[in-house]
Amino acid sequence: MKCPFCGYLETKVIDSRATEAGDAIRRRRECLECQRRFTTYERQEEIPLMVIKKNGQREPFDRAKLLKGLQRATVKREITLSQLENIVTDIESELRNQFKYEVPSKEIGEMALKRLREIDKVAYVRFASVYREFKDIDEFTAELAKLHRNLDKK
Ligand SMILES: [Zn+2]
Repeated sequence: MKCPFCGYLETKVIDSRATEAGDAIRRRRECLECQRRFTTYERQEEIPLMVIKKNGQREPFDRAKLLKGLQRATVKREITLSQLENIVTDIESELRNQFKYEVPSKEIGEMALKRLREIDKVAYVRFASVYREFKDIDEFTAELAKLHRNLDKK
């Protein structure tokens, strides 16, 4: 590791510990030439999660896009932005665990639906109408009917 002060190539590590978030190793180093100290971080290389779209094209998973969809579905509902952000974070880590590198866009929609259904039925139907891409009003009505049946059961 090159010293940023004098350019000397040898240093000794005087302290090494995980960052608070646990996502990196922080090393305190001392230059063997000028004795000045500096810090380096070692992180796992971030591998982007790719989303396979309906037409087969791939694009990187976009948190902002999912959040926007959820916001649109929850306009005028009593759901806070931080609730939605939690949903997005949950979904992202679930996707990473289940799919690793590539995930069909449909799966993301389904995960979002599942979570919305738990917190807000109206938002759920709104989001469903976007993500399931209803072809006509009949499909949408069927979805609503299904929802009402589920509500009746409770
Ligand atoms: Zn140095």
